[in-house]
Amino acid sequence: MTRKFNFSAGPAALPDEVLQQAQRDLCDWQGKGLSIMEMSHRSDEFVSVAHQAEQDLRELMSIPDHYKVLFLQGGASSQFAMLPMNLLRGKQTADYINTGIWSTKAIAEASRYCSVNVAATTEAEHFRRAPTPAEIQLSPDAAYLHYTSNETIGGVEFNYIPDSGSVPLIVDMSSDILAGPLDVSRFGVIYAGAQKNIGPAGLTVVIVREDLLGQTLAGTPTMYDYKVHAEGESMHNTPPTFAWYLSGLVFDWLKRQGGVTAMAEVNQRKAAKLYAAIDRSDFYANPVAMDSRSGMNVPFTLADAALDKLFLQQAEEAGLLNLKGHRSVGGMRASIYNAVPEAAVDALLTFMSDFETQHG
Ligand SMILES: *Cc1c(COP(=O)(O)O)cnc(C)c1O
Repeated sequence: MTRKFNFSAGPAALPDEVLQQAQRDLCDWQGKGLSIMEMSHRSDEFVSVAHQAEQDLRELMSIPDHYKVLFLQGGASSQFAMLPMNLLRGKQTADYINTGIWSTKAIAEASRYCSVNVAATTEAEHFRRAPTPAEIQLSPDAAYLHYTSNETIGGVEFNYIPDSGSVPLIVDMSSDILAGPLDVSRFGVIYAGAQKNIGPAGLTVVIVREDLLGQTLAGTPTMYDYKVHAEGESMHNTPPTFAWYLSGLVFDWLKRQGGVTAMAEVNQRKAAKLYAAIDRSDFYANPVAMDSRSGMNVPFTLADAALDKLFLQQAEEAGLLNLKGHRSVGGMRASIYNAVPEAAVDALLTFMSDFETQHG
């Protein structure tokens, strides 16, 4: 078996060790004679797996006790609606920062439930940077401030936590959760689809401050009420058991790597050498402002777009998969999440340098 290097934006690479563990467990989980997928979510076995995963995530992110951790379905996209439904709490306005495609989608969905004040946007500059703190204009009557810490498509990441004043700060952290240490106490809600930097698709992690629960908008579906899931320990209905289990294996793997501080060091090295190589050459380019460059998703273009197809084809032959940029922006994108080893970035750099020598 040869595992290639996978730069997919999502569903994305998973650690080899985790997949091997899942393979060993698959048909016969811990000698029980059945797989984890075939068990009741209410069985002692699954409940212990679920609790361990939550405990490990709490430990990795130092999540304070007055936050609930929810393991939900529906993707980050469902959170775009679930958030205003739970967090407006009687108000009619919410502040949103717009830094790209995912923020734009969050704004569009929230606009169905409230009036959205765009507190800052870099759209006029084609979303090539995050706004500065001074550019963020909060409205006096907003229920919360929402932002996207890492725009997965544009490769734009905040290098600071915005100040939301007296209202809760909400973040879509789908593509950079667990990339490094974070002060969870700064946030009202942190949410992330699992398939970027956590585990397989099908699971959405929501970390919510307890005092924000229980004031949903009239007509909110039961399944969209955070409090229902918090009280049911994410088992109000059948949770995505396999994705939860597999994410638990990833949390355990992260702990063995030295946790998020150790990951942040490796991630920083991976991103720094990739951007340095792009900046050094006239053949490759990245349009994002230096201080807003993503540590997770690195989009880049070739000087001659006519070579894109050949680049992708030869990259694939060299064992470097899924480097094609998002359909809306073209070019290339290397997603270098926690599970993408430094050796993958080194192999990509060698390939890029050889390709430039041949075609530059
Ligand atoms: C992928 C992504 C989403 C959408 O996630 P789904 O789980 O597909 O709904 C939302 N926000 C960000 C930042 C993403 O990267």
